[in-house]
Amino acid sequence: MISYGRQTIEADDIEAVVKVLASGMLTQGPVVEEFERKLAAYTGAKYAVVCANGTAALHLACKAAGLGPGDKVLTTPLTFLATANAALYVGAAPVFVDIDPDTLNIDFREAEKKVMADHAIKAMIPVHFAGSPFDVEEAARISRQKNLILIEDACHALGASWTDSAGEVRKVGSSSHSDMTVFSFHPVKSITTGEGGAITTNSRRLHERLTALRAHGVIKDPARLFNPEGLPWYYEMQDLGFNYRLTDMQSALGVSQLNKLDKFIARRKEISSLYGRLLSKYPFIKTPVAAHGCESAWHLYPVRIDFNEVGASKKEFFELMKSIGINLQVHYIPVHLQPYYRALGFKPGDFPAAESFYSEEVSLPIYPLLADEEAGAVVEALLSTLACASVKPRKALAI
Ligand SMILES: *Cc1c(COP(=O)(O)O)cnc(C)c1O
Repeated sequence: MISYGRQTIEADDIEAVVKVLASGMLTQGPVVEEFERKLAAYTGAKYAVVCANGTAALHLACKAAGLGPGDKVLTTPLTFLATANAALYVGAAPVFVDIDPDTLNIDFREAEKKVMADHAIKAMIPVHFAGSPFDVEEAARISRQKNLILIEDACHALGASWTDSAGEVRKVGSSSHSDMTVFSFHPVKSITTGEGGAITTNSRRLHERLTALRAHGVIKDPARLFNPEGLPWYYEMQDLGFNYRLTDMQSALGVSQLNKLDKFIARRKEISSLYGRLLSKYPFIKTPVAAHGCESAWHLYPVRIDFNEVGASKKEFFELMKSIGINLQVHYIPVHLQPYYRALGFKPGDFPAAESFYSEEVSLPIYPLLADEEAGAVVEALLSTLACASVKPRKALAI
């Protein structure tokens, strides 16, 4: 079975974890800090804070930003649930803005209109969809007008980069134009720690808040205590935090994986070019392209298939592909269509571009260990399945 995404774990990754297991420091040891230093160095941000997973990272970012009840947080409906849920975790209300069908990222013209019209919007969390960077400078320009907190959801985009208007190349995560950038190290993402996440920032204040909130809101640094009593065991809980720590074992895997990140991304890029070449001559299939001046992390390879033109149903196509060993995925069911969000007042038709994308999208397998022959086999299977679907009546297809 070929699936849409998969981790790459090699002997040295395993050795790195085993070394920590034998060291006696399983959590909160020196490797957490090493991973943070290396993540900061890689992305170009001043600080990195690692935590339990990408969802926890989003939650910490919203909490550290001071978002709460009465505040609104603007994001895209074309994302994993966690982006919008993070606003709800802190008592804020998610506000969606439809996608730009070309970039698949948030439509910033619409975002600007919403931001200017609604004073309760206090933060914006655009997503670097599929690993392809959104226009960070545009997001920053809009945010500045209303003093919004700008959080980049870069769970797809570790290893991606973009070029700023001065011509400088910025790694996603440099947080050069935003307050914070959030990453996930789930096995399908650019690198993995099993479960894991991180926030990068250039703000000392946010860094202090994030590290405290990650571990119960507890402060030990004597210089930051409200009541410095000089007691050697003394610590203070100054805010309601969580246990969102990442372990040393996971961080060791993270350090080892980070060394290979550029190699992973290069391989993903090769696969994406191969798909692009093989699929370019079929007018009913639209393939993704990285925006000008950007290097995508190629987390996903989302293609749009005109099922009407082909005369097939997406459901049948999906099932047929699965029956021949190719497990596609769909990214994403727009968040506002989930029952929980419908109960909050959202409804079908609210965000037509995201909904139309959802009706056509499938994610083709893409991960560093996918061989060229496998990618070729995916394309062959896709074309023959579609051809089959387009000439035969539906009944015959269902067999
Ligand atoms: C994966 C992902 C998350 C959540 O990350 P976890 O580590 O799975 O909690 C959040 N946002 C986006 C866009 C993601 O792809």
